Amino acid sequence: MASHQTLLNERARRRRHLLRAVGTGGIAILPAAAEQVRSRDTHHPYRQNSDFFYFTGFEEPDAIAVFIPGRKQGEYLMFCRDRDPQREQWDGKRTGVMLAPQVLECDDAFPIDDIDDILPGLIEGCDQVYHTFGLDPEFDAQLMSWINQVHAKTRGWQNTPTEFVALDPLMHEMRIGKSRTEIGQMRRAGQLTAAAHIRAMQVCAPDMMEYALEAELGYCYRREGAFHAFEPIVAGGENACTLHYITNREPLKDGDLVLIDSGAELDGYAGDVSRTFPVNGRFSDPQREVYEVVLSAYHAAMAAVQSGNAFCDPHDAAVQELTRGLVKLGLLKGRVNNLIRAGEHTRFFPHRTSHWLGLDVHDVGEYKTDKAWRELEIGNVLTIEPGLYIPSGPGIPKHYRGIGIRVEDDVAVARDGADVISAGAPLSVEDIEATMATSSG
Ligand code: MG
Repeated sequence: MASHQTLLNERARRRRHLLRAVGTGGIAILPAAAEQVRSRDTHHPYRQNSDFFYFTGFEEPDAIAVFIPGRKQGEYLMFCRDRDPQREQWDGKRTGVMLAPQVLECDDAFPIDDIDDILPGLIEGCDQVYHTFGLDPEFDAQLMSWINQVHAKTRGWQNTPTEFVALDPLMHEMRIGKSRTEIGQMRRAGQLTAAAHIRAMQVCAPDMMEYALEAELGYCYRREGAFHAFEPIVAGGENACTLHYITNREPLKDGDLVLIDSGAELDGYAGDVSRTFPVNGRFSDPQREVYEVVLSAYHAAMAAVQSGNAFCDPHDAAVQELTRGLVKLGLLKGRVNNLIRAGEHTRFFPHRTSHWLGLDVHDVGEYKTDKAWRELEIGNVLTIEPGLYIPSGPGIPKHYRGIGIRVEDDVAVARDGADVISAGAPLSVEDIEATMATSSG
C-alpha cells in the first residue's frame, strides 16, 4: 500500500509536470466537481473530478485549483471552503483555508467566496488561459466574466489573455501513463474486484435474485472502504445479451449462465472485471462450447498486449478467434477473413475489446494519434474483454439461443507483456466449476 508521503510526492511531481507544460505566461484553472442532486434535497455521494483529484488529492467540493507557472509568490493556489462550525455540524469537517497549504501542499489558499475579487487579478498579466471548456457551461460563463473584467480594467495597457487553450489534452496525456505507485493502487482495486467475483460464484444458486447477487459485490467492496466504480451488471440468461443491463431485478434460473461486470473503486482507481458462470455451478455442453471460444479470444488478446504493439492489436486478435469460433459453432458461414472484413462478427460481438482504465473506468487518453492507433507503452492500463452475445431468434440453433458471455480483466503493459492486475478470479471452465463447488462459509 502506498504511503501518504509517496502519494504526496507523486502529486507534487504531477504538478511540476503540469506547470512545465503550461509554461510561463499561462494560467491553468481547474475546478472541483460540483455536487449532484439525486432528488429534491438529497445528493448523490460526492465524487471528485478525476483530473482535479489527480493533481490535488483534495476530495472536497466548492474548490478551484489555479496553476501559474513562474509566479514568484506561489505557482499552485487553492480556493476552497473556509471553516464553518455550523455547516460542519451538518455536513462534516472541512480542511479550511488555514490548513490547506499544509494538507494540500499548495503555496497559498483563499476562501472560495473571495474568488471574484482575487482571480481576475491573477489572470491579469497572463497570455493564455488553460481550462477544460465545455464541461460545465456555468463555470465557463463565470470564467469569461472574470476575463472580461480584466480586459475592461486594463484597457490594453497590460498583457491580458488573448488565447484560450484546452487543458484536458495536457492532463490526459499525463494520466494515460501510470506510475509504479498508481499500478500498485490499481492492482489493489483489481484484486478486490476479483475477490468479489469469487464470492459471487460461491454464493450463487438457482432462484436467487440478480440484485441479491449484486449485494454480495457491494458487501465485498464496502467492507474494504471501496465503492462500486460503476453500476454493476448482474445479468442472468438472455439479459446478458443487453450490453448495459443494470436493472438486476430478475431471478437467476437453473440451467442459465449469469454474467457479472463489476469493479471496485479503491482510493479513486477503478477495477473492471467480468466473469460469466453457470447459475447451478455446471456448464452445459453448448454453454461450454461458446465459453471456450470467448476464452481463446481472451488469451489471444492478452498475448497481443506488448509495448510497441498498436492499441487495436489485442482487439484484432480477439476478433480473429471469435470469428473462427463462430464459424466452428455454425453461427456464421464463410471464410473467417471475409466475414471479418464484412463485419459479420459484430452481430455477436458488437463492442471493442479494450478501453483505458484508471481514475475513470473508461479512462482518459486518446486511442488514436493522427488517425493511426496509438502504440501501447509500458505503464498503460487497459481492459481485455471479449464476449459473444447470441440472441434468441430465427437462424440461431436452439441450444445456443440466449447465451451471453463476457470475460474481462485489467492489464498493465509491462516490460514482458501483459501484467494482469485483476488476476485472481477463476477463468477456465474447470476452475469456475471447482470454485462454485466450495461454499464461501
Ligand atoms: Mg467492464
